[in-house]
Amino acid sequence: MTTSEFPVLRCPLCKGNDFQQELGRLDSRWGFTSHRMTLLICKNCRYILHFYDKNSIFDFD
Ligand SMILES: [Zn+2]
Repeated sequence: MTTSEFPVLRCPLCKGNDFQQELGRLDSRWGFTSHRMTLLICKNCRYILHFYDKNSIFDFD
């Protein structure tokens, strides 16, 4: 699978680059405002990567 969406992303466990993308939300358990998160789940080993600001990860402008 070649994708330009996640050009450098590799699973730290199995080095795979095939991810299932899920959107999640981190609720304000500690008094912070809620954050939207992006979860990328490795389709090979199910390792879950968390990203709290999608734009800062995937936009390189
Ligand atoms: Zn993996």
